[in-house]
Amino acid sequence: MEQKVSIQFLGAAGTVTGSKFLVETPELKILIDCGLFQGEKPLRDKNWEPLEVDASTIDLVLLTHGHLDHVGYLPRLVRMGFEGKIYGTAPTLSITRIILEDSAKIQEEDADQANREGYSKHDPALPLYNQRDVEQTFDYLDPQPMGVFIDLAPGIRYKHHYAGHILGATWLELEVFGRIIVFSGDLGRENDLLLRPVERPVKADYIIMESTYGDREHLDEDVEDILIQLVNEVLHHRGNLIIPSFAVERAQLLVYYFWQLYKKNRIPAIPVVIDSPMSNKVFDSFFKFPDWHRLNGAMLGEMLNYVEVVDSYRDTWRVIDRKQPKVVIAGSGMITGGRVLTYLQQLIDEPETIVLLAGYQAEGTRGRDLLEGAKTLRFFGKEYVVRARTECLQSLSAHADQGELLDWLSDLETAPEKVFLVHGEPEAAKELKTAIANKYSFQTEIPEMNSKYELM
Ligand SMILES: [Zn+2]
Repeated sequence: MEQKVSIQFLGAAGTVTGSKFLVETPELKILIDCGLFQGEKPLRDKNWEPLEVDASTIDLVLLTHGHLDHVGYLPRLVRMGFEGKIYGTAPTLSITRIILEDSAKIQEEDADQANREGYSKHDPALPLYNQRDVEQTFDYLDPQPMGVFIDLAPGIRYKHHYAGHILGATWLELEVFGRIIVFSGDLGRENDLLLRPVERPVKADYIIMESTYGDREHLDEDVEDILIQLVNEVLHHRGNLIIPSFAVERAQLLVYYFWQLYKKNRIPAIPVVIDSPMSNKVFDSFFKFPDWHRLNGAMLGEMLNYVEVVDSYRDTWRVIDRKQPKVVIAGSGMITGGRVLTYLQQLIDEPETIVLLAGYQAEGTRGRDLLEGAKTLRFFGKEYVVRARTECLQSLSAHADQGELLDWLSDLETAPEKVFLVHGEPEAAKELKTAIANKYSFQTEIPEMNSKYELM
């Protein structure tokens, strides 16, 4: 039998989102990750374009982790005829469920809004997928263990390795006829408070590697000092500290910081409210998978006792009506939607309010507008005057920076035939390419969208 193997980059090529890599062997068509394109409209429009491959011919999807830009296209794939298995670690599939349910809700709400306001080219506007598509997708999820080879076909097997990026995140070692293809997925930090350090590959013939922060080092800021200072300020001025937060990992990390600071007597007693139904579900996943993070059940319990967990929207209003200084952690992270809007609606015109942005703010989001000093903010169909102060934390990233990306390659026994750099803006990928060439002299390539390479 001829053993031809190829890879095609169907997403996250020259850009960060939409991760989808198709590996074709004579026996199997395997899709590595199945992510949604996010960001500016031309990118989002790609989610509507036909896929380069007939979805019904794909045998299997392997997932690195549960972020939307790695799993958010799955219901679309199922709608287009995919009927194979979707493999991932148990915590990744648990996060995937939370992310996809939320995504379907947003798709449906966006379509409704487009229909009400009549701005869609399609009449009526349709969601990319709905709740029913998501439930159908769940039927194909099939959890797999970490650290052991899983056979896929004669001569083809793969293994999950710990990637320390979010709960359940792994990089993949795919062995095809004795050759090893490594998919980094997204790689975490070397020192993370919630997750263990990233494992490193020892052998690889090809590496498909992320380059999100390929062009920079994370700031060495003192997160604890910044939080202490902001808490003291809102206590002094009787204000509110509002932290828009991503539901997966970031919200849990922030809660962990406040809990630790309080335990060590470094901040006074102040209510810390977490108002994000989605991050509450992620907390449940932390309880369910204790082997996958650094906290044990007792610590998690104590941490959740320390914070005030809000679930129903009615309680959101109760929290707002309480006129005492407090910290509120609420979704979404870039203020594109979620409960945080209700808090801002009531509090953004007060000079005592501090908005702390705790992560990357993409172009075109309200978070970015605030960061750039916007005097007003538009939501709920109205313009709101901004009198609150905006601060930001830049070091709470879940992604490795350039130095950590380079370190991840340091245990390889021999040079890989080629390293493909994906999941990065062109500038980030280019700089990582130079850095890898300087440090290791490995052959690297930045593949273009939909380009295809013969691997053997
Ligand atoms: Zn990710």
